[in-house]
Amino acid sequence: MNMVTGRKQLSLVPESQLQTMALAEYNTFLTANKVLNASNNNAAMVDRVGVRIANAITKYYNDKGQGVVLEGYKWEFNTVESKDINAWCMPGGKVVVYTGLFAVTQNETALAIVLGHEIAHAVAKHGSERMSQGLVQQLGGVALDVALSQKPQQTKEMFAQVYGIGSQVGAMLPWSRQQETEADQFGLIFAAMAGYDPQEAIPFWQRMSAVGGAKQPEFLSTHPSDATRMRKLQQFMPEALKYYTRK
Ligand SMILES: [Zn+2]
Repeated sequence: MNMVTGRKQLSLVPESQLQTMALAEYNTFLTANKVLNASNNNAAMVDRVGVRIANAITKYYNDKGQGVVLEGYKWEFNTVESKDINAWCMPGGKVVVYTGLFAVTQNETALAIVLGHEIAHAVAKHGSERMSQGLVQQLGGVALDVALSQKPQQTKEMFAQVYGIGSQVGAMLPWSRQQETEADQFGLIFAAMAGYDPQEAIPFWQRMSAVGGAKQPEFLSTHPSDATRMRKLQQFMPEALKYYTRK
């Protein structure tokens, strides 16, 4: 039973092991890409939004007596130079935004919507769920450390597919519709608690839907013109707004 989602999830991967693997993959990614330094305005914005959302999430789970959800988290927010419209959060709180995203977010509040969504995938352990399914389907259900020692390349590729890292965004395993809904809803709450108007999600997703094309980011992985998603966002908005105080 997942503490965050209240849903039964397949979990063969201990969070601590996944965080260790994530840290290694994250460091490899940062070495292989051009990371903007803090003097860049967009990089500073990513860091500012990220820290505010991380603080909101910490408060959200501490208030519920569920601080354990964030065990092992050491937040980092980086921006990399890339045309791709993409962003992700790895287990353990390692967040990367690609500069291609800014053309669509267009403002700080929309960036908060995206980061809230990506971080929600991580804290809801959606990646762990996908990795567990991958270990069952591709490697016969072995444990993560066994998979890493016996089939390191395949295991790393699975990780990259689950988390949408690397340049081939299209190669990512899409989240399930249920996972997307959970990320949308928790993401709105986190953004609202961080002082960003959750209502920006509606025009933001409309701009996203208009992007189209082959290079769609993970948050469009279900369907770009998904009317169901928009309807669910609207339905959830009154709940999200309860958490919103403009800062
Ligand atoms: Zn998503």
